[in-house]
Amino acid sequence: MRAAHEAVAYVGLGSNLDGPVDQVRRALEALARLPLTSVTARSSLYGSAPIGPQDQPDFVNAVAAVTTRLSPLALLDQLQALEQRHRRVRQRHWGPRTLDLDLLCYADLHLSTSRLTLPHPEMPHRRFVIEPLAEIAPSLTLAGASLTAWRKHLCDQTLHRLAP
Ligand code: AMP
Repeated sequence: MRAAHEAVAYVGLGSNLDGPVDQVRRALEALARLPLTSVTARSSLYGSAPIGPQDQPDFVNAVAAVTTRLSPLALLDQLQALEQRHRRVRQRHWGPRTLDLDLLCYADLHLSTSRLTLPHPEMPHRRFVIEPLAEIAPSLTLAGASLTAWRKHLCDQTLHRLAP
């Protein structure tokens, strides 16, 4: 479905299986090939300790800024298809996965449907989202609060910059 206007959206990427750095790099390239969509910025790659079960490898995370003429649901469809193409494996909640893509926000839209909640309800609390977002979009507001404000409420998750 095509949106009437071009919108700016942010996508969060994460992987901790099957060569996570490569998974995230390939996913960033694939984002740039989505229909009606351009990647305008992407963060460095970050390494983060897992949230939830600790008996799994660390994650590699990044965020990308896109402009898109896809509607929010059509963009989610594309992101989920991309996850499937990376043969996403996910056995348990918060467990390891080859590729996880989250639509962090889409313009300043607030949405709560069975398939899509915007802005993403959990992500503003995650250091692996806020720090990469601050790198590429320091003046962004998420759910009405600045990234600086969100930063004050982050838990002590270990995060380090892995690669440009
Ligand atoms: P997860 O695998 O934990 O990322 O959750 C995937 C599920 O969350 C899918 O069923 C999506 O329809 C739903 N979902 C709701 N809001 C979002 C969002 N903003 N981005 C990605 N998935 C979402």
